[in-house]
Amino acid sequence: MTNRRDFLKTTSMATVAVTLPSFGLKAAEVIKVQSVITQKPIVLSTWNFGIPANTAAWEILKNNGRALDAVEAGVKIPEGDPTERSVGYGGRPDRDGRVTLDACIMDELSNIGAVGCLEYIKHPISVARAVMEKTPHVMLVGDGALQFALSQGFVKENLLLEESEKEWKEWLKTSQYKPIANIENHDTIGMIALDTHGNLSGACTTSGMAFKMHGRLGDSPIIGAGLYVDNEIGAATATGHGEEVIRIVGCHLVVELIRQGKSPQKACEEAVERIVKLTKLRNKNLKDIQVGFIALNKKGETGAYCIQGGFNYAVHDATGNRLIDAEYFTK
Ligand code: ASP
Repeated sequence: MTNRRDFLKTTSMATVAVTLPSFGLKAAEVIKVQSVITQKPIVLSTWNFGIPANTAAWEILKNNGRALDAVEAGVKIPEGDPTERSVGYGGRPDRDGRVTLDACIMDELSNIGAVGCLEYIKHPISVARAVMEKTPHVMLVGDGALQFALSQGFVKENLLLEESEKEWKEWLKTSQYKPIANIENHDTIGMIALDTHGNLSGACTTSGMAFKMHGRLGDSPIIGAGLYVDNEIGAATATGHGEEVIRIVGCHLVVELIRQGKSPQKACEEAVERIVKLTKLRNKNLKDIQVGFIALNKKGETGAYCIQGGFNYAVHDATGNRLIDAEYFTK
């Protein structure tokens, strides 16, 4: 038999408001009950460009579309925007002046696809999805990824635009690889969403660290590092110094911490704390490192945390689309 609490768990917020008085619940109980009610659909993404990206994703989510379609459509916005110089078209090049893109995608059935070090293709996330849906593999890199993309009808185009080329030529004068936390010479769009069907998916795409060595992969195309989704538990994505995220297999860790009963917020905090601990252990300077995680559980509860202040993320739910400054470790 369905008891009162089970009923409340499965009903909507609007129904709860009407139904509660007849159950005679006290205010404290109302708050408790509301926290177990699923908030969906909802989409979260990293940095300022998360706002327009969320808007595109929301168009799909609000029409009962699939989270997978929403995250792909969402991250394609900054990918295709030449003024966003850390993702996709117009992204900053590696030290050889080549724009090499990384992306991965994961759906509610744990289907995964990724591309690494992909050149000349504006929307690596769609190539990652094609890898997922049309090949027996989960990751293609370099020339093989390009060859596959072209075979799927993706168009080859120049991704190195004037501004990024100018910056690269300037950089060549010193050729010092020194990514600075929150100075915009990197940044990734990671997006995670829960759709009205209760399914989770995620996407992550970047041009990576500016002036990286040619062939360098960060966390962003690596399932488990830059992105992870477990449809029974939650989803997480990352931005920042990819080497540090890979070191702790960051997003898989966040989702596993949620599985252990942690809130998405607490899970992000623990993952960041682990990076901090290892940074100290390795005698590295924490000041030089920025990593941010965002996470979502099956109930639509969200979390975000980073090492240094300055990381923000965008959340779109039924109440609107907003940018939030993440809490941070070095406060
Ligand atoms: N995580 C990306 C990378 O390491 C860069 C970033 O998000 O800042 O390539």
